[in-house]
Amino acid sequence: MASKKKTAVELIALQCSECKRKNYTTEKNRRNMQEKLELSKYCPHDRKHTLHKETKIK
Ligand SMILES: [Zn+2]
Repeated sequence: MASKKKTAVELIALQCSECKRKNYTTEKNRRNMQEKLELSKYCPHDRKHTLHKETKIK
């Protein structure tokens, strides 16, 4: 099922800036979102909201 079609949508992980865990995965459309994602998300490890930054999944 792993087709290598070129697509504008990229799968990314959101990594906690404090404990470096990858807590979330999301999709990003490169056509209309060029800058890096930075979101305040709940981290289950830190048990609070922390800044999560976009990173590669693998
Ligand atoms: Zn964390």
